[in-house]
Amino acid sequence: MKFELPKLPYETGALAPVISQQTIELHYGKHLQTYINNLNTLIVGTKFENADLETIVKESDGAIFNNAGQTLNHNIYFLSFSPNGGGEPSGKLAEAIKSQFGDFENFKKEFAAAAVSLFGSGWAWLAKDASGKLSILKEPNGSNPVAKGLVPLLGFDVWEHAYYLDYQNRRADHVSALWDIIDWKAVESRY
Ligand code: MN
Repeated sequence: MKFELPKLPYETGALAPVISQQTIELHYGKHLQTYINNLNTLIVGTKFENADLETIVKESDGAIFNNAGQTLNHNIYFLSFSPNGGGEPSGKLAEAIKSQFGDFENFKKEFAAAAVSLFGSGWAWLAKDASGKLSILKEPNGSNPVAKGLVPLLGFDVWEHAYYLDYQNRRADHVSALWDIIDWKAVESRY
């Protein structure tokens, strides 16, 4: 198998009550595993057989793009959390957020508004361009900022499978709770 499930740096129940153990077991253990299995099957015999994940997301379309995008999205997502997370970013990322969004509270407000207003299934992303300029994107379905030549820093999954067991239809409550488990050191390492 070319692509494999990333190892989580926390126990499956460690993010509760923000994300329950049941949701992690399904979302990480079943949904992400399925995207990875599908991708591994789909690329056999194609020009993507030996490509890295980001190259596949940049250059593919159709089912390969959907499954590669979701594999990349979730690899970033699940490695952006910590039971000791929360607080605010520091260093260069904090400076960039302040210069572009005014302050961290306003950034959170704009990011949450993007996540909550995204219609249907998709992702809200914080991304940077080659010059380090930040942007907030609303990406449908399984797309990722790398498809637009940007570097993904932080993604909130707003597919219903990410929150329905724990929050039912209350997407805004889920998005608001996620800030408490963000591992800003992991996010800063991508900037
Ligand atoms: Mn998901």
